[in-house]
Amino acid sequence: MALMTGAQYIESLRKLGTQVYLFGRKEPNWIDHPIVKPSINCVAATYDLAHEPEHEDLATATSNLSGRKINRFSHLHMSQDDLVKKVKMQRLLGRKTASCFQRCVGMDAFNAVYSTTYECDQKHGTSYHESFKKYMIYIQDNDLMVDGAMTDPKGDRGKSHSQQTDPDLFVRIVERRPDGIVVRGAKAHQTGSINSHEHLVMPTQSVGEGDKDYAVCFAVPSDSPGLFMIYGRQASDTRKLEPGADVDLGNKKFGGQEALVVFDNVFVPNHRIFMCGEYDFAGMLVERFAGYHRQSYGGCKVGVGDVIIGAAALAAEYGGADKASHIKDKLIEMTHLNETLYSCGIACSSEGCPTAAGNYQIDMLLANVCKQNVTRFPYEIVRIAEDIAGGLMVTMPSELDFKSELKVPTASNLSLGEWCDKFFAGVDGVPTENRMRVLRFLENICLGSAAVGYRTESMHGAGSPQAQRIMIARQGDIEAKKQLAKDIAGIKE
Ligand code: SF4
Ligand code: FE
Repeated sequence: MALMTGAQYIESLRKLGTQVYLFGRKEPNWIDHPIVKPSINCVAATYDLAHEPEHEDLATATSNLSGRKINRFSHLHMSQDDLVKKVKMQRLLGRKTASCFQRCVGMDAFNAVYSTTYECDQKHGTSYHESFKKYMIYIQDNDLMVDGAMTDPKGDRGKSHSQQTDPDLFVRIVERRPDGIVVRGAKAHQTGSINSHEHLVMPTQSVGEGDKDYAVCFAVPSDSPGLFMIYGRQASDTRKLEPGADVDLGNKKFGGQEALVVFDNVFVPNHRIFMCGEYDFAGMLVERFAGYHRQSYGGCKVGVGDVIIGAAALAAEYGGADKASHIKDKLIEMTHLNETLYSCGIACSSEGCPTAAGNYQIDMLLANVCKQNVTRFPYEIVRIAEDIAGGLMVTMPSELDFKSELKVPTASNLSLGEWCDKFFAGVDGVPTENRMRVLRFLENICLGSAAVGYRTESMHGAGSPQAQRIMIARQGDIEAKKQLAKDIAGIKE
């Protein structure tokens, strides 16, 4: 099948029987639901990009498995150049959507599972890698969106998998059958899960021998029996339900999505199992997936940052403050922070190296440094954006007030809309509505529904800050650095 367009992708979702719960009820037509729709549009952008001739080089690739042209989101990176192009594509999509376009978790999972299954087979004589290659060709040829599902709910963080009072708090095998396995558990805050055709499930952390049943990796269609999702709500999400809502949404077309994905005794056939008890490879899979996703943030968050910087500059311009030297300096600072993140994304890609399976992996230390910076810089970028925007960003009347023709019975006999227009005007020649639009955009990304994807996800997505610090400690090679110091300082022990 040829590469899907965004419209074809949306139609393909209608053919699935995905079970979605939202605001306390089952939502049969979730595809057209105003709260879900922007996140679907955002994924659709990843499909449309592949059809734009000027972006063909970034958005498509040639499959190492089939030799066919595929969407880069289902590509196995075969060079450092592929890794760099991945980051550039993510920045581009961040610029186009100012949102999380959700499809990267699948891409990152493909690359991690591909190399891990290869090494697992070498040690254990299993045949997961061949099964996974066949699965990848199916995904590539059908241009499917896949949720790379890692994070378990985890319950009591002080206890291991099997010590939990409720054993389902980590996804586990509950039954082994000749034709496959049955799994139970859940994956929490799953980016784009509802919009995915498939779920590729991985362990959430390393697993000990006693917790073998939790060392499991498999793929299932999103509408498998026993699988359902509960939509994660976002700040100000119900604004999307207001009739005719536009300006107040800040970003009407695009948005992100997270959900709880529940597996209540889901059957997985043998050919879709890629780890089944090989606990010594769980940690490798987790580290590799996390590494790729930490690289990803050096692309997507930077693209969104570009839009935020532009919006802050516009807010200053519309308010007549753009010539002030401190505003110029703040825009420089935002740019410096944003480009530092991009530098990390590019650096860990350029320093990538081949795995034993042949696909390329990012430089782990640099990818973790990238994400550690992402836990900080977007917060500072947002802080400066709020500084430049001013308090109006959060105190402005609603779009309905601005549009209202209701006459206010006072001496001037102006309508509510006219009063709003008069007092929220900025520089001459700029319609008040434009000023409103840019401030509502900033409100949305700083503390509205889009803040999930730009702020909190920058902190916790692809692992919370401490997870990167553990990896940095492991990769930092302090002993070798001590030796450098000894050599230069003439220390002989
Ligand atoms: Fe992709 Fe960024 Fe969203 Fe992760 S947070 S899925 S890298 S857009
Ligand atoms: Fe993420």
